[in-house]
Amino acid sequence: MIPFFPPDLFEADRAELLEALHAVGTDPDQRFILGRRTAEFEEALRRRLGAADAVACSSGTSALSLVLAAMDVAPGDEVVVPAFGCAPLAAAVCGLGAVPVFADVDPRTLVADPASAEAAVTDRTRALMPAHMFSVMADMPRFAEIARRRGLRLVEDSAVAQGGVLAGRPAGLWGEAGVFSFVQVKTFGTAGEGGAVVTGDPGLGRTVRMLRNHGQDGTRRFVHHRVGYNSRFDEVLAAFQLHRLPGLDDRLERRARIADYYTERFADLADRGVAAPPPGREGRCFYVYTLLAEHRDDLKAHLDRNGVGNHVYYPRPLPRQPAFAPYAPPGAAWPGAEYAARRNLSLPLYPHLSDSQVEHIADSVCAYARHSGSDPLVPSRRAP
Ligand SMILES: *Cc1c(COP(=O)(O)O)cnc(C)c1O
Repeated sequence: MIPFFPPDLFEADRAELLEALHAVGTDPDQRFILGRRTAEFEEALRRRLGAADAVACSSGTSALSLVLAAMDVAPGDEVVVPAFGCAPLAAAVCGLGAVPVFADVDPRTLVADPASAEAAVTDRTRALMPAHMFSVMADMPRFAEIARRRGLRLVEDSAVAQGGVLAGRPAGLWGEAGVFSFVQVKTFGTAGEGGAVVTGDPGLGRTVRMLRNHGQDGTRRFVHHRVGYNSRFDEVLAAFQLHRLPGLDDRLERRARIADYYTERFADLADRGVAAPPPGREGRCFYVYTLLAEHRDDLKAHLDRNGVGNHVYYPRPLPRQPAFAPYAPPGAAWPGAEYAARRNLSLPLYPHLSDSQVEHIADSVCAYARHSGSDPLVPSRRAP
C-alpha cells in the first residue's frame, strides 16, 4: 500500500528534532515561544523570499486571521473568497464578523475565476482573498489589477504554494500579505502546527507582529495597543524548521519532477474522462497532485484496490457546507466549484516516494483509464 501521506515524514531528521527539543529545554533563556530561534527563522524566511517582513505564528489559519485583522476587516465588511477550497478561507472572514462572498472557480485550474470575483464586489467589499490550490497558483496579476482598480485590499492565501513563482514573483508576495502553513502535510510542513505571514509592507508586518501576541509591541510587556490573539510560534519548531529550510528547494524539485512525470503519463487520458493539472512550472506549486475524473468514485475504488492512497479534497463547495451556507445568497450557484467537488481526486506527491512507487501510481491511473476507454494500451514509461 502506498499511503497518501508518508508515515515516516521526519524519520531522516529524527536526531535534529530531538536535539532541538533538548537545546530549547535546557537553554538558560527558558523561552519556549518567540525566542531567538523564532527570530532567526523569520529572518531566514524573509531573506529567502525578499519580503519586508515575515512573522511566524501558530498556523496558516491564524495567519489569515491576523492579516484580515491587521487590515481592520470588521463586522459588515465583505471579503471575496473562492467557493472551492479549505474551510479557513471562509472561517477566517466569519471570525472577524465579516461576510465571506464566494467567487466561482475555474473548472480546469480549480483556482478562483477573477471575473467571478469581480462580479461579487459590492460597496461593502473590503478585500479579495484568492487562494493557490493544489498545483496551480491563482491568477494574481489579474487579482492585483482588480484590487487596484476597485480600491480593495489583496490577501494571498499561499498556504500551499511556498516555493511557487508566477511571472518572476514568488507566491506570498503577490498580495499585500501572503500566508504559509507549516502543518505537517504542507510542502514545508513541520512536526506540529505553525504558519507565517509574509509581506512587502513593513507597517502591515508590524501590526501582524503585535496582533499575534495580544496586541503588545515587543518592547513593553503588558501594554496592549490592540485587541490581539495568541498566535505565537514554538522555539523547538523554529529550530527544526531552520534545520529543514536548506533542503526545501531539493524537496520541492523532487515534488515537481514527480508531478511532471504524472502529467506526461496522463496527457492522453483527458478524452477518457481523467484530466491532469495543466503542465509546466510557471505559476505552479506542488502540494498535492489532483486529477479531475468523470467517474471519480470508480477511479477511487480502482486505486484503493491497487494499493494507491488517494484523497478527495474537497467533497463539496464551501457555500454548500452547513457552517457557511448561511452566507450563501439564495439561488446562487457555483458551477465550477460543484464540478470540482464532484470530480477531484488527489494522488500521493511527496519527495521520498520512490521511483517504483511513482510508476505504480501512474500505471494504476492509466490502467483505469484504459479499461474505461477503448484505446489501446498506454505504454509505461520510466519515472523521473
Ligand atoms: C492548509 C491551508 C490553510 C490553513 O493552514 P493551517 O496551518 O492548517 O491552519 C489555509 N489555506 C489553505 C489553502 C490551506 O491549504
